[in-house]
Amino acid sequence: MSMHVIVVGAGLQGVCSAFYLARAGARVTVLERNSGPAREASFGNGGYLQFECPEPWNRPGVLRALPGWWWESLGANRKTAPKLLRTSQLLRLVPWGLRFLRAANTETFLRNTTLNRELAQYSRACMALLREDERIDYAGRSCGSLFVFRDRAALDGYLPVLEHIGEAGAVWERLDRDTLLQHEPSLGPIADRIEGAIRFPREESGDSWRFTCGLAARAAALGVAFRYDTPVLGIENHGSGLSVRTAEEALRADAVVIAAATYSTHLARPLGIRLPVAPAKGYALTIPLEDWPTRPRHVIADMGVHAAVNVLGDALRVAGTVDFAGADTRLHPDRVAYMMGLVEAVLPEFARSLDPATVQPFTGLRPLSADGLPLIGPTGVAGVYVNTGHGGLGWTQAAGSARLLTDQLCGQTPAVDLEPFSPQRR
Ligand SMILES: Cc1cc2nc3c(=O)[nH]c(=O)nc-3n(C[C@H](O)[C@H](O)[C@H](O)COP(=O)(O)OP(=O)(O)OC[C@H]3O[C@@H](n4cnc5c(N)ncnc54)[C@H](O)[C@@H]3O)c2cc1C
Repeated sequence: MSMHVIVVGAGLQGVCSAFYLARAGARVTVLERNSGPAREASFGNGGYLQFECPEPWNRPGVLRALPGWWWESLGANRKTAPKLLRTSQLLRLVPWGLRFLRAANTETFLRNTTLNRELAQYSRACMALLREDERIDYAGRSCGSLFVFRDRAALDGYLPVLEHIGEAGAVWERLDRDTLLQHEPSLGPIADRIEGAIRFPREESGDSWRFTCGLAARAAALGVAFRYDTPVLGIENHGSGLSVRTAEEALRADAVVIAAATYSTHLARPLGIRLPVAPAKGYALTIPLEDWPTRPRHVIADMGVHAAVNVLGDALRVAGTVDFAGADTRLHPDRVAYMMGLVEAVLPEFARSLDPATVQPFTGLRPLSADGLPLIGPTGVAGVYVNTGHGGLGWTQAAGSARLLTDQLCGQTPAVDLEPFSPQRR
């Protein structure tokens, strides 16, 4: 009889894992507390498939920025700060934060950018195959992306990492303002505020919610049993096997894949597994574009105001903010107003024309690992695997991470060395 694998979580990582595991011949059950797939972080993200420059957030110098994030979360600036570090989280974040800061040096940052890129490139290849084989419509576009800078020093400061990934094969070009506007006319109204941009012509975009729902349907057709409205209460290791506890029963499994984003830490801890993953809350707005004439052609990451703007189907998706606010998933009106301000900052004419009643706000928790690399693979407890910690790159790296995890779990050699991504790394 084939191996029974229980996957906890039906976000991007859980659904992709379930699909590949079923395709490899495993009997798979997915347990998800929501009533459908991709209802949390994978629902409303920026849609940016950042295959070329997937840098971690541990940029050297981040230590100097931290007091500012905390200070802004105290005062009147709270409404206009892109990053917040709530006082209530300071103590809780200490062990994770120390590891985060330990990784914020040039050598580790460049190394982890390269490793993330290898995984992202593999993910791009996996997605291309999935597109061909499974024909999932997720509003995918090979549109390229732009990092837009309002400050020349910030642009110049970006070059070392670009040169580094360029040596590994990344394709990018530096654009002056005029060339930028030829590529991206939608930025015309803010041209006088822009110093220049980096263009990545091979980057992609797509709707992760549609992708996850489509892949879940393909996985179900392969025999995966999806059990929604089923929170997992605990995982037990009996020595002779594993069981996963829900309110109704304890399900036996040969292997368990924990893909429950930041909640993975709670499920893993009683087994003696410590996962250095913290919630980094983000917001996004979805706004119908209707017949707006100058739609952005690229995914635009405006580095000056820390916003990502993207077209997904017939809607504009604007993503931003990093709030270290614990597991708070409430939509705060202040932060939604701040997001509306970002639309105004990047696309002022569109912002003035839109009907606020049509704007759909969203918030989700990015599962952010301490060193900026996801956690993929065995945990040291026999049969227990993890697929989480992708932070702001979970859409970019989902297909590749799940395929590699499946190969490892099924005793095959993964195409990318998973050692640096091991959940057991120190
Ligand atoms: C605002 C924002 C913008 C982003 N933009 C981008 C982007 O442009 N590009 C990119 O690559 N990434 C982006 N990301 C990151 C990306 O969305 C995430 O990394 C990714 O969605 C994480 O997928 P996941 O499956 O790990 O988590 P989730 O989608 O959160 O799925 C985890 C699932 O586990 C379930 N679960 C948790 N606990 C339990 C339990 N006890 N029992 C049962 N089920 C449980 C949850 O209900 C949930 O469905 C963004 C994220 C945010 C929030």
